[in-house]
Amino acid sequence: MSGNESRLQAIYQITNREPSASDKTEPLGNIWACDVFNLATMEDSLSKNAYKAIKKTVQTGQALDPATADIVAAAMKEWALAKGVKFYSHVFYPLTNVTAEKHDGFIITNSDGHAINEFTGSLLIKGEPDGSSFPNGSIRMTNAARGYTAWDPTSPVYIQHTDNGSTLMIPCVFMSWTGEALDKKIPLLRSNDAMNKAGNRVLSLMGEDEIAPLNSSCGAEQEYFLVDSNFANSRPDLLLTGRTLFGAASAKGQQFDDHYFGAIPARVQVYMQDVEDQLYRLGIPAKTHHNEVAPGQFEIAPYFEAANVAADHQQLMMTTLKATAKRHGFICLLHEKPFAGINGSGKHVNWSVGNSTQGNLLDPGQTPHDNLNFLLFCGAVIRGVHKFGPLLRSVIASAGNDHRLGANEAPPAILSVYLGDQLEKVFQDIKDGKLTDSQAGGEMDLGLSQILNFDRDPGDRNRTSPFAFTGNRFEFRAVGSAQSVSGPLVAMNTMLADSLIWIADKLEVALKNGDQTQAVISVLQELMNDHGHAVFGGDGYSSEWHEEAVAKRGLKNIPTTADALPALQEASVKELFESTGVLSPVELASRYEVYAEQYVLSLEVEAKVVIDMAKTTIYPAAVRYLSDLSMANAGLSEMGLEMDNSTASAVSAATNAMMTAVAQLSKAMEKEEFSDTEAQMQYFANDILSLMNEVRLHADTLETEVSDELWPLPKYQEMLFIK
Ligand code: ADP
Ligand code: MG
Repeated sequence: MSGNESRLQAIYQITNREPSASDKTEPLGNIWACDVFNLATMEDSLSKNAYKAIKKTVQTGQALDPATADIVAAAMKEWALAKGVKFYSHVFYPLTNVTAEKHDGFIITNSDGHAINEFTGSLLIKGEPDGSSFPNGSIRMTNAARGYTAWDPTSPVYIQHTDNGSTLMIPCVFMSWTGEALDKKIPLLRSNDAMNKAGNRVLSLMGEDEIAPLNSSCGAEQEYFLVDSNFANSRPDLLLTGRTLFGAASAKGQQFDDHYFGAIPARVQVYMQDVEDQLYRLGIPAKTHHNEVAPGQFEIAPYFEAANVAADHQQLMMTTLKATAKRHGFICLLHEKPFAGINGSGKHVNWSVGNSTQGNLLDPGQTPHDNLNFLLFCGAVIRGVHKFGPLLRSVIASAGNDHRLGANEAPPAILSVYLGDQLEKVFQDIKDGKLTDSQAGGEMDLGLSQILNFDRDPGDRNRTSPFAFTGNRFEFRAVGSAQSVSGPLVAMNTMLADSLIWIADKLEVALKNGDQTQAVISVLQELMNDHGHAVFGGDGYSSEWHEEAVAKRGLKNIPTTADALPALQEASVKELFESTGVLSPVELASRYEVYAEQYVLSLEVEAKVVIDMAKTTIYPAAVRYLSDLSMANAGLSEMGLEMDNSTASAVSAATNAMMTAVAQLSKAMEKEEFSDTEAQMQYFANDILSLMNEVRLHADTLETEVSDELWPLPKYQEMLFIK
């Protein structure tokens, strides 16, 4: 099939498609967490003592003794076998944004040739995937390439089904033989630990005598696009890179604002419900779904959970979204910018910290005392964002997310904090010293009664801020839709830990000289004097802000990944991760290398696809059209008639310009020598990307000139509007 024919076929198939509703939908009570070996399941199947031990491990992360591990493994095996499981897999999260799995059978054969199922505590706890094919940023010499996976008992084991069998999935950490973290889970667990320790210190100084372990929470809103797979399969760019590298704008885009929260197309809703039923079986609390701003764009958000579990669930959700889409004849695009000119996709990472004794510490409390804790934790976040803005930018850096950040749709590439009018005023008053003398002491409320009534109306929220306080949590909005939430969570937990340590040190001294309220206010005043610059409540998209942020406030505007990743090499960032014990200098350096390499590889693949599609798909279509036109022209001249040649001239000019750019891009791709990784990233961010854009510019012109009948690629209007 060539050209338009495949597009017509696709449209025919879509229009005649039977909806693929599954017959499996069941009441929530029947399916909720039915495929999860969680505490409830363990309580039913373990002895009291074993249950007590594992519960403690699950809730506090304390190591599990081998004897209990054996008991848990045995119970797990029984539970899984009863559900028809034959294989188990250690699931882990390497430095790419994907999930990795190594599957092993329960089967062993004995000397009589019988097959038996074996699964011991040690098999549960430890696996040994050959790690050499995972990116490790030169941590491991290839001759010592062994890595190992170890069960993370704080994240529940679950079963994954296919039509032909089921596998027991065991969430794991992944480390090198020498003990370095090769994954995204270990730093997340460590960052939570660091935050817990520092938070505990602050709360103790505040006179709290019962302090349960602090944990961070995460609720991630996931945006995605759905495109019918009949179209997607004719687009090598979508299949290989996740975004369209070519495509003229559709006459109708999102200008009518008619898609956001609009009625969900029936076929899409059937898909969403299928996804949600699967998530419920896995104990993932999918809570909202709706249309997003762009045509063909949707969102799903689960209810928030402990950060470590939420991060695993987020990965599982991305996998489920993609796999289920195939069954419904869609391809699910998690890329940050699948279509030029219309909104891209983000992942809002809602984050808070708290414990069972003091509650959510980012929630303004009911008493002035509660609010002192709240203000300290909130102040710690402000300081963190200011001090580590470039780090926060670097953990959301990817080739895909570069298309959103800084473009006029998504949060800008300048990291600032939005507090809302009331809370901003409280911190401003603290900074200006307005709360110190006249009001301090006694039972007065420090003017904080205003935040007791904090306005949680979402309509009020500043949508242009990359990092916003939303009533009882912060929302990191600049995270990319395809990214793991772990990187951002690690950065947030760690910067918070660092700030809480600073606060505790200051508070210790201040408490010696005065009463608690005054001590808190004086520490926060110093904090605001040094870091208040990061607080910004205005329009984050405006050019005035870009000017003011950089020139007056000294904040950094970091437009690309090439500019952002070097932050990981800064001394202050090394010091942050080393002092908190979250990442050793070697582990941090390896991350810089891996992420830089991924950035370059992504652009390399894109550039190759651009060259290939321009030469083998678009050029031939243009030439065929030119040949049609020239034949028509010749025929008409024979008849003594004249033809308007403006189209032929336009097509010919655009074709030549496109091929010139293709030649330049091919040549530019030959460069192999770079002074260092940063130079290589910059080369791709500037030279390669601009040549790719140049090729696209002319190709998109051709799309608007060449006969629709000959155009080989599904067009924007087809991919976005035909469902
Ligand atoms: P919106 O689109 O208005 O931001 P959503 O309801 O789509 O709101 O998503 C908000 C997300 O924030 C949900 O995942 C929700 O569970 C989560 N969330 C709510 N409270 C907290 C909290 N205290 N800590 C972390 N996440 C939270
Ligand atoms: Mg949100």
